This record gives sequence, C-alpha cells and structure tokens, in this order.
Amino acid sequence: MARYRESTCRLCRREGLKLFLKGDRCYSEKCAYERRSYAPGDHGQMRKKFSDYGVQLREKQKLKRMYGLLEKQFRGYFHKADRQKGITGTNLLVFLERRLDNMVFRMGFANSRTEARQMVRHNHFMVSGKPVNVPSYLIKLGDEVQVREGSRKVERILEAMETVARRGVPQWLEIDKTNFRGVVKTLPTREELTMPVKEQLIVELYSK
Ligand code: SF4
Repeated sequence: MARYRESTCRLCRREGLKLFLKGDRCYSEKCAYERRSYAPGDHGQMRKKFSDYGVQLREKQKLKRMYGLLEKQFRGYFHKADRQKGITGTNLLVFLERRLDNMVFRMGFANSRTEARQMVRHNHFMVSGKPVNVPSYLIKLGDEVQVREGSRKVERILEAMETVARRGVPQWLEIDKTNFRGVVKTLPTREELTMPVKEQLIVELYSK
C-alpha cells in the first residue's frame, strides 16, 4: 500500500497547526511546530493568500492528515458519508472516528493514530470478543475494544494508558482500565468532535 514517507512534522507546519501525529513528542519542546510555526520549504515564511479552492483543499488535507489517510481512502469515506442520511460533513467526521485505529487512539491504548494503526496490525486488539487486525474496521455503537490478554504487558500500551489524561478520553467512550477495554456508549455528535476543521469546505471541494 502507498504510504507517506516524508517528515511527519512537515505536515503540521504545512497545515499551520499541531496535528498531534507523533505522540509524546507533540507535547514536548521538541515539537517542530512549536519551534518553526511556518510552512516548510524556502518560501515557507512568505505570506500566502489562498483562493477559495486553495482554502477548501487545505481543509481537506488537514483532516486527511489528522487521520493518516491517503486520498483514495479519504474520498471513499466522503462518498459513503454523502450517501447516508443527514449532514454529509458530520457523517464524514463520524466515519473517520469509527475507524478501529482511531478508537484505539481515542481510548488511550496508543499515543497517536499512527502508533494505533501499527498495533492493530500487530494483532493486539479484539472487537466485541473477536480479534481484528484491520485498522480501517468500522466500530459500531455498543462495540467493545479490548487489548488482547497476551498484549497487556506491552510497554507502549501501558505507557499510553498512563499518559492519556493529558488529552482526555471523549465522553462518548467508556473506559475500563482494569480490564483494558473501552466501549462506544454513543456515536459522537458534531459538538463533541472538537478538532478545528470546517468540514463544509471539504464537502464543497468534493461536490464540484
Ligand atoms: Fe506535529 Fe507532533 Fe511534529 Fe509537533 S511533534 S510538529 S504536533 S507531529
């Protein structure tokens, strides 16, 4: 599968905000965006005025990069969201939130979505009692995500569970740390998704 291979921190600098793609490092003074909060490249410090299209494109790139997706996958979620009843932009955000790698991250079993994706692939999790190693697996309301018994001593998982307090676990999830599990109590509403994204711009971009 195709993969983004360049410096991850460049993505934050390009989008002009912290996307929190690198776990611990993002909360430390090593964060590249804290040190150089301008776009990468020779002309990164020049002021840029974006066209309407440019603004929409940046918004899409921002969201896509937050969840670590490539264009084809991201567009696929948009089409699914568009076919569903309700507001397309909100549907899109909820689809992204329902991905297993995102849930693992949100529940605090991983420090970043990238780490969560790798751990899901390495078979560390079960969904409602069955092992699942597909990061894009869509979690449903009431599903339970649990760390597999043999993985409960994995240092990265334990460390993530220790440090999750600094970003907090969303209200729509219920976490039982003792049993290494989390349950999806409700699917998130738009108000509960606090990332700074104007999803309507993405809908406009793809609707052209
Ligand atoms: Fe972004 Fe994290 Fe890198 Fe900072 S450390 S620039 S928040 S990925």
